[in-house]
Amino acid sequence: MQGTMIYGAGDIRFEDRPEPAITRPTDAILRLSATCICGSDLWPYRGLQPINGPTPMGHEYCGIVEEVGKDVRNIRPGQFVVGSFATSDNNCLICQNGYQSSCIQREFMSAAQAPFLRVPLADGTLVATTDLPPGQLIPSLLATSDVLGTGWFAADAASVKPGATVVVVGDGAVGLLAILSAKQMGAERIIAMSRYESRQKLAREFGATDIVTERGDEGIARIKDLMNGIGADSALECVGTQESMLQAIRSTRPGGFVSYVGVPHGVALDGAGLFFAQVHLHGGPAPVRRYLPYLIDLVLKEKINPGKVFDLTLPLDQVADGYRAMDERRAIKTLLQP
Ligand SMILES: [Zn+2]
Repeated sequence: MQGTMIYGAGDIRFEDRPEPAITRPTDAILRLSATCICGSDLWPYRGLQPINGPTPMGHEYCGIVEEVGKDVRNIRPGQFVVGSFATSDNNCLICQNGYQSSCIQREFMSAAQAPFLRVPLADGTLVATTDLPPGQLIPSLLATSDVLGTGWFAADAASVKPGATVVVVGDGAVGLLAILSAKQMGAERIIAMSRYESRQKLAREFGATDIVTERGDEGIARIKDLMNGIGADSALECVGTQESMLQAIRSTRPGGFVSYVGVPHGVALDGAGLFFAQVHLHGGPAPVRRYLPYLIDLVLKEKINPGKVFDLTLPLDQVADGYRAMDERRAIKTLLQP
């Protein structure tokens, strides 16, 4: 088969790769129905995250089970499944407490931008649907694998409750789906920080009530204007930079909640600043597996349409164009069809 590799900044190649096979008895092999490019894939693509030589890419996936190892009990060939970007046994003490993305057996998935994928710990990582889903729901089901699951965690970790005031920092696909998630959780006022018109439009569709285009001190002042001069109940940080993290903390009222789900690059927090901000901080790699059954159900009942974040669909062999489009902000998120 052919799969996606990164060789260096801006250098994505779709090339011959060994077809994945069962290597451990708890593995499954999937034939992917769809895969996509993550905002976090842009860090190495932009040369902002070093790689150790040519590296397979892709960690968002859904598809049909082709084969399972001899110790797999719950997942069967022929099922449609979605899995998280982090594998989990769904059984250890960390998993039992809902943090499957830090499972003691965790591995981070890669190599999903390919037609076939090996998934370790299949029973604990994958969630199967009862029936094969209709084709038009595939983009939204794919979204549950990471981008929606991460946006959902952003809202959950920031304790978004009915009637809450919420600021979402970051208008990438995760930020946009954090808006959808906050709306689902009953937030009354959702401020999207966004400078791009197409993203503002989608933010409003997903439930944003206000748009703030300013950043830094000006952005914080605008938010406080909209929030009785005090700040929001919850701020959802969906980027991972120093600027976005401080924006989130400083937009939150004392006693409020800040979540952070963007992979941090160069974030360093000052102790005194944190001390006097007096906010709850909670984040990390989203425990998507915890939310998958619920999110898949919302999609199958057509209560949400997170697949709207895919504004570019390409055949898998044009994956390099997909990266370029996202890097140049011509696309919010690229769906790839094997
Ligand atoms: Zn575990």
